[in-house]
Order: sequence, then structure tokens, then C-alpha cells
Amino acid sequence: MTPEEILQTDRRHIWHPYSKMESDMPVYPVSSASGVIIKLATGEELIDGMSSWWCAIHGYNHPSMNRALAKQARSMAHIMFGGLTHDPAARLAKKLVELTPDPMQCVFFTDSGSVSVEVAMKMGLQYWNARGVPEKQRFLAMENGYHGDTLGAMSVCDPINGMHSLFQEILPKHYFAGGPTRRFTEPAGPKDTDEIRQLLDKHHHQIAGLIIEPIVQGAGGMRFYSPGILTQIRQLCDEYKVLLILDEIATGFGRTGKFFACEHAGIAPDIMCLGKALTGGYLSLAATLCTRHIATTIDNGHPGVFMHGPTFMANPLACALGVASIDLLQASDWQKRVRQIESGLKSGLQPCSRLANVTDVRVLGAIGVVELTHPVDMATITREFISDGVWVRPFGKLVYLMPPFVIEDNDLDRLTASVYRVVKETC
Ligand SMILES: *Cc1c(COP(=O)(O)O)cnc(C)c1O
Repeated sequence: MTPEEILQTDRRHIWHPYSKMESDMPVYPVSSASGVIIKLATGEELIDGMSSWWCAIHGYNHPSMNRALAKQARSMAHIMFGGLTHDPAARLAKKLVELTPDPMQCVFFTDSGSVSVEVAMKMGLQYWNARGVPEKQRFLAMENGYHGDTLGAMSVCDPINGMHSLFQEILPKHYFAGGPTRRFTEPAGPKDTDEIRQLLDKHHHQIAGLIIEPIVQGAGGMRFYSPGILTQIRQLCDEYKVLLILDEIATGFGRTGKFFACEHAGIAPDIMCLGKALTGGYLSLAATLCTRHIATTIDNGHPGVFMHGPTFMANPLACALGVASIDLLQASDWQKRVRQIESGLKSGLQPCSRLANVTDVRVLGAIGVVELTHPVDMATITREFISDGVWVRPFGKLVYLMPPFVIEDNDLDRLTASVYRVVKETC
């Protein structure tokens, strides 16, 4: 199809994320992407500042990822996981168990982050049922949190960002604490988790698990918080016999400067969700990991099995790409790369903090955020970024960068310079 034909069909028949069907918001046809460059069908080349939403950590069209994909496609693209197993699933599970904190021993593969959160919640519920504590049916979640768009995952997202009012008849009701506010670089005191303690103290008999994104609250506001808060949350969960579910879907695989964000606090969860960068941005795959104790307890309870089993569970292509992506990451000096990106983001975005329409500039690892006083005009700002030859996709008041780890310094400079110019001139 010509770019015009693509756009015409798209406009008539295809939904985009959080959009109207018949939207007048522009979308741009892409013809290819390679390294950190996205090539539009109309010829423009854009430096990617988004990693396609946390995923494409190695950039696009990577030779060794392509090889892994082709190799796996030649042996089998997919096979059902009921009663069958395969090398890519075994190898990826082994790697995940090795890389995650020690207590994470058992892996459930799903096809998207939201579903891995559903699975984590169901694990928590089945666990307490099996323990003979069926009244633990609720979760404690954070304001400004984001855990996905399916109903169960949405029910533990921020009640306002997550549009709970729109679905209130069907959404289960959970408990919410104000999101962590203590900054990443500040030490946390007991006051910082006062509200969580109070909620647990009052409702722990009903609470199966506490779910939180470690260190970075992503799509709910791009906030970074003190590792000390996570340490305290771990202690509180132990004290009140509540499972700790860490949603590392956005933060996993090096983005914050540690392989997993929970390493900043030196703690381990009871259940952990992984997704997004798991396959280096090639295919949709997610995983929910849990302790041996949780798995064994579920096995020994009623009905004696864990009640979930997606059609594309442990898809071999996706698992092979997961293995290849982790191999690639481990063979690279990713920590040094992320540190360099962090310092490039800091120096490049810092000038924004002097602008009158900017309330905050913050950087952690390969994530840089410029928070504005007002929401951006998406159509205008996107056009401006494209005219600078960069791909940046703000949301609300947040203009942020999370480039592929392979980005070179001069491309990163072009990204930050464009953010400065566009925020200064058009917001
Ligand atoms: C993106 C995201 C999800 C949902 O993942 P999908 O693959 O989009 O379903 C859940 N939790 C966090 C923290 C995320 O960033």
C-alpha cells in the first residue's frame, strides 16, 4: 500500500492506544526501523527516544536478534504448551531464575504484561485459599501506579488515571495508599510508609498481596522513589503476612541502572512480573515468577493446579528471542551504557528546569523526564519533534526519553536538544 492508502485504511478501521476510532490525531506510517533510527514511509528518519515503550533496548533490526528469530522459525514458530515443552522455554526460564532474586524459582509464561499481572493476582488468591485463608481477597496498591489494561490489572492501577469510575460496577475494589513521594536520592523514614502500615494494620485479614512498581512508577506519572521505601514495604508485608508483588515489567532488564529495580533496595518479592524488554522489543512475552513455597502451596491446595493456561503460553519464537536478548545484554557493558545515557540525559535535560513551563526535571538510569505545568498539545508537539528528526511521544504533562541502550552520544544530544527546543518554543 502507498502511505496514503495505509493512512486511509488505518483511519477507517484501526484503533490506536487510548484513541478514538475516527480520530483526527495524526499517525505516521513507518516503513522500517534499524538501530536507533525509525524510518517513516514518507522518507523522514527519526532518532528513537522511546524504545517503543521500554522494549527495544538493543535498538531495531539487530543482526543477532534477527538470527535467533530466523533460527527458531526454522525449527518451530509455535507449539501448544499443554503436555509439551521445548528448549527455548527451558533456557529462558533457567536464565530468569538465575537473574532474578534467589527466592524466584517458578516461572509462568504469558503473552503480555497485563496478563502477567492477572496471573500474579490469581497466584496470590490461590495461595491464600490453599493456606485456608480465603478471606484474603483484596490487594493493596498505590496511587499513580500502573499495572496494565485488562480488568484485573486495571483494578490495581491508580483509581483516577485508571478510569475506575467508568468501570466501577465491574471492577473489584482494592485498597490504595498514596504513591511513594520520597525522592530516589533521599533516605526514607518510617513516616514515608505510615499510610501503608495503617492500611495493612486495619485490613491485612482481607489483603492477599501488595502490588507496586519498584523504584519507578511508570505510566502513572514517571516518578522515581527512594529504595528505602521498598525495603520498608518488604518488612511490612512480612509483618502483616501479605504477599509482595513487584511489577518489574517496565523497570526490568537494566533500564534503571540495575538489572532489576528491586536490586536498588536489595529486596526480593514473593511474586514478580516481567515483560516489555524481555524479548528486546521483538515479540510480546511476559513472565510471572514466584517462590517455590507459593507454587508448592498452590499445588497442595484445592483444586491442586494453578488455574491459568494461555493459548500462546511460552511461544517458542518469543522465548528464543528472550534468550537472545538476555545474552546480548549480558555480552554488552550495559551498566556503563546506561550510566553514560544517564549522564547525557542529565546534562541535556537540565537546561529545561530553567523554563517557566517546567515544574521538574528528573533522570534515573536511561529514563529522563521533563514535567510541565500543562498537558502538551499532542498533534503540535509530535509535528515539532518530527521536524527535528526525533521520535518522542509525551503523555499529559510529561515529556520523557527512554532511548535504546545502544544510542550513541551524538544522537542522545539531538534528542535532548530537541526536547529543550520544543518545550521552550511550543509548550
Ligand atoms: C506496560 C506495563 C504493564 C502492561 O503490560 P502490557 O504488555 O502492555 O500488557 C504492566 N505494568 C507495567 C509497570 C507496565 O509498564
